[in-house]
Amino acid sequence: MPYQYLLFDADNTLFDFDAAERSAHQKLCREYGLAFSEEGYQLYHQCNAQLWHEFDLGRCTKEFLLVERFRRYLAITGEKADPQALNIAHLRALGEGAVLLPGALALCRRLAERHRLYLLTNAVASVQRRRFESSPIAPFFQGVFISEDIGWGKPSREYFDYVFRSVPGLERDNALVIGDSLSSDIQGANNAGLPCCWFNPRGLPRPGHLRIDYEIRALEELLPIVS
Ligand SMILES: [Mg+2]
Repeated sequence: MPYQYLLFDADNTLFDFDAAERSAHQKLCREYGLAFSEEGYQLYHQCNAQLWHEFDLGRCTKEFLLVERFRRYLAITGEKADPQALNIAHLRALGEGAVLLPGALALCRRLAERHRLYLLTNAVASVQRRRFESSPIAPFFQGVFISEDIGWGKPSREYFDYVFRSVPGLERDNALVIGDSLSSDIQGANNAGLPCCWFNPRGLPRPGHLRIDYEIRALEELLPIVS
């Protein structure tokens, strides 16, 4: 069994982060009397995605991005609220929404019979821990590595070095990184010299500058790769 250790990303790989984010945004709008619309949500989503991308590239801190995404959103919509308060309420709502992607639970249950599963995530520690611990996949995992606890995040080499130091038996030839993000998961695996599998449910074009050892459109396609 070549890939004994499976290093899973969390959001949009096992958890339906888009669904959790949409419902958190809806809740936030209700709570703060802001207008909720699909366009408004997409605007927030864009502000958020852009800032996480900047974070992945090391151009801003997480503390900055968490509040800045709401500052930008309010600047565009023209609505009045405290971006700091919105962020706190948003994180609280997000922590309550552990929605798994189709097939994630069955996959983890099956894989845990013969593999060691770890969760590698760049999210906000308090939110991610609450979501993970309340989710039905939690018992199948041996450990969780949250960037905020470690002080480094994916795709940094230091983050993966920490994972290597923390997991006995983990080697570069017996582990597989599985994730949806090219800039954090796949770039991270490239930086760390680890094999990787790109979860690409939307069939996005494959970039030329990264090593991608496997590509899957649905989670169950992982089974023949690691079995
Ligand atoms: Mg992800």
